[in-house]
Amino acid sequence: PQQLLFYCRPGFEADLASEVATKAASLGWQGYPRAEPHAGHVRFVVSEERPVNVLHRALPLASLVFARQSLVALEPLEALSREDRLTPIVEQVVASGWSFESLWQETPDTNEAKALAGLIKALKRPLESTLRKRGALRRKAGGRRLHLLWTEGDRVQLGMSFPGNRSELAGGIRRLRFPHDAPSRSTLKLEEAWHEFVPRDQWQDRLGEGMQAADLGAAPGGWTWQLVHRGMQVFAIDNGPMDRKLMATGLVEHLREDGFVWAPPSRLDWLVCDIVDKPSRVISMVERWLTRRWCREAVFNLKLPMKRRWEAVSEGLARLDAALGEAGVKAEIACRHLYHDREEVTVHVRLLN
Ligand code: SAM
Repeated sequence: PQQLLFYCRPGFEADLASEVATKAASLGWQGYPRAEPHAGHVRFVVSEERPVNVLHRALPLASLVFARQSLVALEPLEALSREDRLTPIVEQVVASGWSFESLWQETPDTNEAKALAGLIKALKRPLESTLRKRGALRRKAGGRRLHLLWTEGDRVQLGMSFPGNRSELAGGIRRLRFPHDAPSRSTLKLEEAWHEFVPRDQWQDRLGEGMQAADLGAAPGGWTWQLVHRGMQVFAIDNGPMDRKLMATGLVEHLREDGFVWAPPSRLDWLVCDIVDKPSRVISMVERWLTRRWCREAVFNLKLPMKRRWEAVSEGLARLDAALGEAGVKAEIACRHLYHDREEVTVHVRLLN
């Protein structure tokens, strides 16, 4: 049967499965998710004749919260023989009738799967040269990429990705170098959010020197560090202590106030918030900021200690969307479970009028 294959953080399969099932149903597609706990991936099997590529396009990766990668997939190959793993793979590719420009072998983001690195390396050259000989790997193939997701030494699922609707990163994971002078690991969450939500060629205009930002729940200053690193002036709101070196830049004003109550002295460019609290409380605060246009863009986290994480996220986003709509505020809202996020997701909002 036709299917889609998504990668996710291990432990979030049920959330991704509900998200995809809900969204596919609302697009009028019949199908069911297949997910094993901690497998780091989810399949969505379609029970209709229409080409699944149509659904794939209707569910862009950027619009999904819990997916790191999105592929149109073939039936998993199981119980591959140790003597010859290659032939069934090549035959399945050739039978699919598709050709590709590149081949990526990947594993789920689990510790067990890391043991498959040797196998993957050994298969790379023989696979590529055989696929080339069979015409399935060639120069001009519309940017299509063939993905082999190895879940066991004898189990692999083939999928394909298309330019403009995929992550260009292996495993859909953005690894970032920790800036040695940043005061906390959390700093990478904000940096990753910018990579995710702000196109690189707009960083100068949207994350530029001299802009003003508020960081709610700022201590010890990992997020503030990112803002300061871009040359912004920051109101850091937190009862806790801020990093000394960061304060010495002169760009930070530390206020020991309640982030849920504090209002900026004038309109700012950015609001960021990493306070650990109920999603509904964070959403209400952000709603107030945005309907009063206290900032132009916002990045904030929703912490998700609850079981039904997708439901909590979708409720929160729907509420925010409705509140902005009622106030006549046009905005784009995006939400993603980033690689550096754990039990939380990151939301980005940008005002458009
Ligand atoms: N983003 C920070 C960084 O990169 O260093 C880490 C933030 S930490 C996860 C959450 C912070 O929120 C804590 O420092 C806590 O003191 C602060 N906090 C909790 N409730 C708050 C509130 N109502 N107003 C302001 N800060 C609050």
